Amino acid sequence: MTSEYSEMKQAFYDHLAPTSPYPLAIEVERAEGIFIWDKKGKRYTDMVAGIAVCNLGHRHPKVIQAIQDQLEKYLHVMPYGEFIQAPQVQLAEKLAELLPANLDCSYFVNSGAESIEAAMKLAKRATGRVNFVACHRSYHGSTHGALSVTGNEQKKFHVRPLLPGVSFMRFNHSEDIDLIDENTAAVIIEPIQGDAGVRLPDIGYLDALRIRCTEVGALLIFDEIQTGMGRTGSLFAFEQYGVVPDILCIAKALGGGMPIGAFIASKKLMHLWTHSPMLGHITTFGGHPVNCAAAFANITALVDDGIIDEVEEKGMLFEMLLKHKNIKEVRRKGLMMAVEFDSPETVQRIVKSCLERGVITFWFLSDPKSFRLQPPLIISNDQIKECCAVIIGCCD
Ligand code: PLP
Repeated sequence: MTSEYSEMKQAFYDHLAPTSPYPLAIEVERAEGIFIWDKKGKRYTDMVAGIAVCNLGHRHPKVIQAIQDQLEKYLHVMPYGEFIQAPQVQLAEKLAELLPANLDCSYFVNSGAESIEAAMKLAKRATGRVNFVACHRSYHGSTHGALSVTGNEQKKFHVRPLLPGVSFMRFNHSEDIDLIDENTAAVIIEPIQGDAGVRLPDIGYLDALRIRCTEVGALLIFDEIQTGMGRTGSLFAFEQYGVVPDILCIAKALGGGMPIGAFIASKKLMHLWTHSPMLGHITTFGGHPVNCAAAFANITALVDDGIIDEVEEKGMLFEMLLKHKNIKEVRRKGLMMAVEFDSPETVQRIVKSCLERGVITFWFLSDPKSFRLQPPLIISNDQIKECCAVIIGCCD
């Protein structure tokens, strides 16, 4: 480490566990709307929204107000499920109001991976089966169960053995649906694959999965951790495909910047936790009242302020502006976008030069030839034009 590092940066490298040899290492001073400022006053336009988290932008006033109001009342009072805490109840009620009738019961946890773990347990409890079918190039989280159904061998080989009984289908290959059989507890799938580089389902593919699951008595779990909360132009992506899962996993943008996840199913399924054994799934901090209050304000603003209604149009503007001879493809639904180039090296170069010019983009876990654009949904058309001009400038 050289002396040009600030004390804070030095301590970051000395004492925080790293996840990569090349962190972006922006020293954050503050964040507001679609912008992040560093300690030196440089302003960055955040085109990844903390990886599909800050859908309302950073520090949305309604979310901040809800957090402040709850801070005045109580913080943690009891592990999940025992006391009646208004922020939890209001959030669960709101979700039930917005979701199809069979998704009327929410269990709040702390993260995406945790919601996947619990959904897998619930599927085992409900079916008495232990096998899962997932997709190649999927990402469902970094814990052992979630990793077991993640279709990225690079992330798994060093921690085997993982869960047995997991088979992998190729996304959009209807011929692989035969892997789902009478021994399958659940199929777990992102309706739009995120870290595979934004892969949209073909017409009829999700329907075929739904039909097969119903046929063999397997549950269908949709991982909408990345696609949820308006990102794709509807509150949840599955609404656009007319296919309803048995269990819905959400997290990331749910809390408006606060850490909260949920898995949502029918009351009948959820009641399995209460017996044989009771306390079948427990969490100390899941459904923290401050996070639930933030999530309630977040979801209310997303829906009531018409923000989701504009998402697809904004996505179309991006697509129109991101035209350059070096851009091979833009894959997109709403404001969930992948921009593909000829090689991983080109992607690395463009991500780096965008950052130098104050635009934050980021890579995918399973698609080295593309980078992600997932801006806050509140981005204006003028801001989209400015950002695209920078990106196109970096493509030359
Ligand atoms: N599922 C999907 C589709 C994700 O994109 C992610 C995170 O990127 C996860 C699950 C895991 O969520 P978390 O990082 O909150 O555990």
